[in-house]
Amino acid sequence: MRLLIMGAPGAGKGTQARGIADHYGIPAISTGDIFRANVRDKTPLGQQVEAILGRGDYVPDELTEQIVADRLAQPDAAAGFLLDGFPRTLHQLAALDETLAADGQALDAVLSLVVDPEDLIARLLHRAEIEGRADDNEETIRHRMDVYTSDTKPLLDNYGDRGLLVEVDGDGTIEEVGARLVAALDERMGGAGSR
Ligand code: AMP
Repeated sequence: MRLLIMGAPGAGKGTQARGIADHYGIPAISTGDIFRANVRDKTPLGQQVEAILGRGDYVPDELTEQIVADRLAQPDAAAGFLLDGFPRTLHQLAALDETLAADGQALDAVLSLVVDPEDLIARLLHRAEIEGRADDNEETIRHRMDVYTSDTKPLLDNYGDRGLLVEVDGDGTIEEVGARLVAALDERMGGAGSR
């Protein structure tokens, strides 16, 4: 199963990505987690991206694409994966298609968590209090929402046109939304291949 999960900041995609990945026995690959871990460990990559993350801007496409290509080449991703937070631009989308096609692979489905944007700012502010994330002050949150709308939403149209999009209502408890996602995916995959 080669999957993506998309959703605006605060839509709960990180949590749901881990749940789905566990359910299907595939790795969840989050570019945001990779970047944050590098910032935390003060690696050269971390030093390169720290200010970008702090502003809520996007890390340059080529750099992000290379990191994902390297990660997808790891043995644990050979049988499937769930990408969380990548691609975020049309350039990244094309790069991912190319990376997969080079191995004769393609995406099976693109999950989209649909949540009212009004609710999302409130959720993010709440999370900022709990997690103390440096990129979660109100100004940065609003900026990330704007960047998402302008740069990432067109990707949904692209995947929709290709018949890959599976839209799921992201409003509810973690368990409710998780059950909806698995049901939608199982239906999409014809029930086969799922555990
Ligand atoms: P996330 O945890 O997915 O919200 O990502 C946190 C931050 O990491 C984003 O605000 C960006 O600065 C950076 N980032 C994560 N994924 C990407 C990507 N695919 N392209 C560019 N920047 C990214």
